[in-house]
Amino acid sequence: MILKTLCVGPLETNCYVLGDEKSKEAVVIDPGGDFEKIERTLKELKLRLKYIVLTHGHFDHIGAVAQLRRATNAEVLIHQKDAFMLSSAGRSQPFLLESGAEPCGADRTLQEGDRICFGQFSLEVLHTPGHTPGGISLVGQRMIFVGDCLFAGSIGRTDLPGGSFDQLMDSIKNKLLNRGDDCLIYPGHGPASTIGEERRNNPFLT
Ligand SMILES: [Zn+2]
Ligand SMILES: [Zn+2]
Repeated sequence: MILKTLCVGPLETNCYVLGDEKSKEAVVIDPGGDFEKIERTLKELKLRLKYIVLTHGHFDHIGAVAQLRRATNAEVLIHQKDAFMLSSAGRSQPFLLESGAEPCGADRTLQEGDRICFGQFSLEVLHTPGHTPGGISLVGQRMIFVGDCLFAGSIGRTDLPGGSFDQLMDSIKNKLLNRGDDCLIYPGHGPASTIGEERRNNPFLT
């Protein structure tokens, strides 16, 4: 599988480009900004974008969604509880006013257990609320894309609208940490890690 991490937008969000070498089908997770950089990467890798998947609705993860959708006709997928954040109504939230992003609807909403298929690969949707009500993590083969739920050495903020510390800890402990220790974690910001590393050394979890 092709996996490229692009650092995009003012908050240095990790935008992940996943592709199947054979069919050339691709998924982009969290296109938070820098549309040109994402489009160039897809072109260089000769990938055909099938889905734009959002781990949650915060502005730093959705900034380039509308442009990318227009350029590629890919479907926009987000959990049903965060879908409103993509529309203009959801942008009345204080945190989203900082965004220059165009509003854009979801083509399909996601829930726990859904599978997102591209080529011979798939990602399974885990509902991991706490940072936002509709936060999701995406499980691939020995890897999880966790959005702003969990970071290397830290955990997601819970002081923004819809956040809940108890929900976040429940998501991390019961949905993420029970994966194998060698499972790779790809967070919404900062470096990648592993479940084992975070279970043993993350100060918020020990
Ligand atoms: Zn966030
Ligand atoms: Zn973020």
